[in-house]
Amino acid sequence: MSNGETPTQSNFITDIIDGHNQSGRFAGRVHTRFPPEPNGYLHIGHAKSIMLNYGLARQYGGKFNLRFDDTNPTKEEQEYIDSIIADVHWLGADWEGRLFYASDYFQQLYDWAVQLIQQGQAYVCDLRADEVREYRGTLTEPGRASPYRSRSVAENLELFARMKAGDYADGSRTLRAKIDMASPNLNLRDPVLYRILHAEHPRTGDAWCIYPTYDWAHGQSDSIEGITHSICTLEFEDHRPLYDWCIQSLGIHAPQQIEFARLNLTYTLMSKRRLLKLVNEGIVSGWDDPRMPTLSAQRRRGVTPAALHDLTERIGVAKNNSVVDLALYEYSIRQDLNQHALRVMGVLNPLKVTLINYPEGQVEWLDAVNNPEDPAAGVRQVPFSRELWIEQDDFRETPPPKYFRLTVGREVRLRYGYFIKCVEVVKDADGQVIELLCTYDPDTRGGNAPDGRKVKSTIHWLSAAHALPAEARLYERLFLTENPDDVAEGGDWMDNLNPNSLEILNCYVEPSVAGAAPGSRYQFERLAYFCVDPDSTPERPVFNRTVALKDEWAKVQQRG
Ligand code: ATP
Ligand code: MG
Repeated sequence: MSNGETPTQSNFITDIIDGHNQSGRFAGRVHTRFPPEPNGYLHIGHAKSIMLNYGLARQYGGKFNLRFDDTNPTKEEQEYIDSIIADVHWLGADWEGRLFYASDYFQQLYDWAVQLIQQGQAYVCDLRADEVREYRGTLTEPGRASPYRSRSVAENLELFARMKAGDYADGSRTLRAKIDMASPNLNLRDPVLYRILHAEHPRTGDAWCIYPTYDWAHGQSDSIEGITHSICTLEFEDHRPLYDWCIQSLGIHAPQQIEFARLNLTYTLMSKRRLLKLVNEGIVSGWDDPRMPTLSAQRRRGVTPAALHDLTERIGVAKNNSVVDLALYEYSIRQDLNQHALRVMGVLNPLKVTLINYPEGQVEWLDAVNNPEDPAAGVRQVPFSRELWIEQDDFRETPPPKYFRLTVGREVRLRYGYFIKCVEVVKDADGQVIELLCTYDPDTRGGNAPDGRKVKSTIHWLSAAHALPAEARLYERLFLTENPDDVAEGGDWMDNLNPNSLEILNCYVEPSVAGAAPGSRYQFERLAYFCVDPDSTPERPVFNRTVALKDEWAKVQQRG
């Protein structure tokens, strides 16, 4: 699915859905959802889940819901809800007005808990959290029954009502399902369904002081919404028997849960808890710092939804966890920007060039192609004059072997301009080259010599008098190691942070970009893709480097 087109891929999930459509299990309906917990910003992994769920709904002419799993009031905030809505919308997934909250179902979930108690399938337990854990046993030892397991229905109903009424302190009691303390699946050893928490909820305020656990809320929320295929990540595989037990005990609509592998990227961590730590400790400037894997950060950095769609298509859905090479993601980003980003010239590390034979005060406007991939993007004019900026890297006083760019006595082409030849260098007191004196050949306008002589390289440049001062923010990977979790003994993932993940340069860009709106994307020719940052002012644009031009993925593939 790129740019909202319907996917055509088949995979193990579409096989399951096709099977249901043949057997008639859901009467041909396909209804998926994306169920984020509003306790942080969405990241690239969530994008995969969103596009998978939305893509399946589209592929089968079905429906897609957005639902906040807001059952944990102490960690959830409106800021997160707002950002999630904006991100899902940005990705192009359309929930068609079906935006729900698990908190909308608190009364129904409570009523169903009462039903379980009445059926003798749930009880109020006075064990503390650590005792519940201790009684639960381990993978090799069966659990022990809680001393409160055999309470009467009447007593359980009364205690649960008093829990709801606020008669008890936080943590003093829970409601637990009565399933099987000897089950090999720990999730079935009388899991907690409700806990007491005297906390204000962003949506229900102080209406409740008991909150359903994720295990109790999740499957039933799917059921209420008529979800057919509850797609989730692999860590919920062991919870599926519990969800099925709840649904069967209540006798309500049963969705099919299907687990798939999380998207992981090299050099990247995608747990919200850790991302929150990076924000709270000021390692990054916020959730949308362009080094973060969050969608708001990726957007700010210049990544397009199309690039995320492309990545998702390329990796497909898998049943086994794996780690995707960050270079593949960068490849997807580049593919899209190459087609759509306007080309401009920018000089990141300026070196002055004076064309000693160019008339003082003269300005020519030269035609420059806006996007060679898109003829409709047209041509703009760039000013040319006697004093220019070029990239420091494009000159070497002592050129290494195979260096074909500028050096004393050598001729190169200026992109869209003329041939120039360096005749002399000017140095400061420390011996640093601060200026090049060059000649230009007036007969080479447009980049070709009438006598047919060739040059080996073409470099970019700016007219110094016209260039717009700007700030360039160059990002590197946030972590130094492929797997940031790979730490020495006693170490911590924070040890793997890259101390040089941000470099800020004072640079110049051509005047055509003056006033560009934040979010505008460009290719600085020969350098990288950049996106205008919201920190820009009319006098001084700020550019985020989205991704370099160099394609590392092609190299990875060659290595095989
Ligand atoms: P995190 O571990 O980053 O905090 P989470 O799973 O706790 O994420 P939720 O808000 O519960 O975050 O996730 C919403 C949905 O997104 C879930 O269905 C979850 O399975 C899915 N999801 C989360 N991370 C990834 C990932 N890396 N790849 C694919 N899907 C993901
Ligand atoms: Mg979660």
